[in-house]
Amino acid sequence: MAIVVRCAKVSTLALCAVLAPALAGGADWSDQQLATAGALRDRALSGTSAYEHVTSLVTEVGPRSAGSSGDAAAVRWALNKLGSLGFSNVRSQDVLVPRWVRGHAEVTLAGPVPQPLVAAALGGSVGTSEDGVEAQVLEVASLDALNALPAATVGGKIVFINQRMERTRDGAGYGATVKIRTEGPSAAGHLGAVAVLIRSVGTSGARHAHTGTTRYRVDAPRIPALALSNPDADQLARWLKPGKPVRLRVKSTARELPATWSANVIGEIPGSERANEIVLLGAHLDSWDLGQGAIDDGAGVAIVMEAARLIGRLERKPARTVRVVLFANEEFGLSGANEYARLIGDEAARHVVAMEADIGAGAVWRVQSKVAPASVAAVDAIREALKPLALEAGDNEAHGGSDIGPLRALGVPILDLSQDATNYFDVHHTVDDTLAQIDGKTLNQVVAAYAVAAYLAASKNGDFGRLSPEEKEQR
Ligand code: ZN
Ligand code: ZN
Repeated sequence: MAIVVRCAKVSTLALCAVLAPALAGGADWSDQQLATAGALRDRALSGTSAYEHVTSLVTEVGPRSAGSSGDAAAVRWALNKLGSLGFSNVRSQDVLVPRWVRGHAEVTLAGPVPQPLVAAALGGSVGTSEDGVEAQVLEVASLDALNALPAATVGGKIVFINQRMERTRDGAGYGATVKIRTEGPSAAGHLGAVAVLIRSVGTSGARHAHTGTTRYRVDAPRIPALALSNPDADQLARWLKPGKPVRLRVKSTARELPATWSANVIGEIPGSERANEIVLLGAHLDSWDLGQGAIDDGAGVAIVMEAARLIGRLERKPARTVRVVLFANEEFGLSGANEYARLIGDEAARHVVAMEADIGAGAVWRVQSKVAPASVAAVDAIREALKPLALEAGDNEAHGGSDIGPLRALGVPILDLSQDATNYFDVHHTVDDTLAQIDGKTLNQVVAAYAVAAYLAASKNGDFGRLSPEEKEQR
């Protein structure tokens, strides 16, 4: 019964690969190609070099925020690594990136017995004056609650947005909460607040704050914006609970510097027959500055590099080219993704499908897609080739990652391998984003899934269609 439900859920147009194994792949792949995919999968499950790649990046480079010396080192590292791993057409693509530096942040309870709170400036936040800013705190439960307040209530205050992120396997809790970070500072500034503190958009109970980009609107004053660690947000909420005024002092030396240059780094496993058709595997090379950039997105870099490398070592290469793109500056404005999409021009039509690894190092649990309806059966066949991984049914409503968003907008279909993100937001964008968070064996499982999906996409007889204008926008 479960099998029937699964087939019906995927698509009424889909051939059910589970019920009709002899038809798995249909005319899309030869039996030999399907056998090669199985062998690729099993080989990756038995061991890969992905953990070595991420160890190398974290150890030899470490944090690499856009435009920093670490970022430049990461570009050099990627060019060398792709070359030494046997990739072809290894090259960089210059990308202009904004440059922001964190400086030092302090948030302190003002009063007879000052108490410090652990906080981190949000990416892009302005700093305070040297003396800092001291004001009464106004707590709100959400962005909507803030927007509903009159300026007379908010003016002159430090706004505290106390919304907690929920832990979910698919990362949906992040999507539901992250607006307090991206939009909260301008919403508060627009109403006359002097600074904004948000509860960290993360699930950890550890005393570390979660950074990430904020976006100032042009019609609102830019006010300093910081995130409090979850235990410190709890502490502040307790101080506020009796209803007495609470005053905080906020100091931050965060500032923006002139834009500078970084680069996308690209390497390829050339196709054997239709080398001008591209299956794109993306991840981002930059990271936030607080941790080592191991799970975000060193893991993704290692996964896509290793999946492509394994395909490159096959005796019979797939027809299409597998292109690895390590994007510049995902974190602070998608500079690399936008530049890549701008530069490909007519080549966009020859991007057959795009995949992105940017949700850590957890195991793959689902295959989703956004492909033309006629190609959903092929996605089912890819899922069937991954059957030993016991993946759950997905649908054809995948959003894809942020770096392949601009490709999707050009009509490029998306394959999305959902990784378990249950614990990802405990360390994402924090000081605890370190190699210690990555399990090598689990990483092999992810590589197996990426290698099989990329190999089958690059070998498939037909393509995955193109996304309609409506589907391109659906994000
Ligand atoms: Zn990321
Ligand atoms: Zn990130």
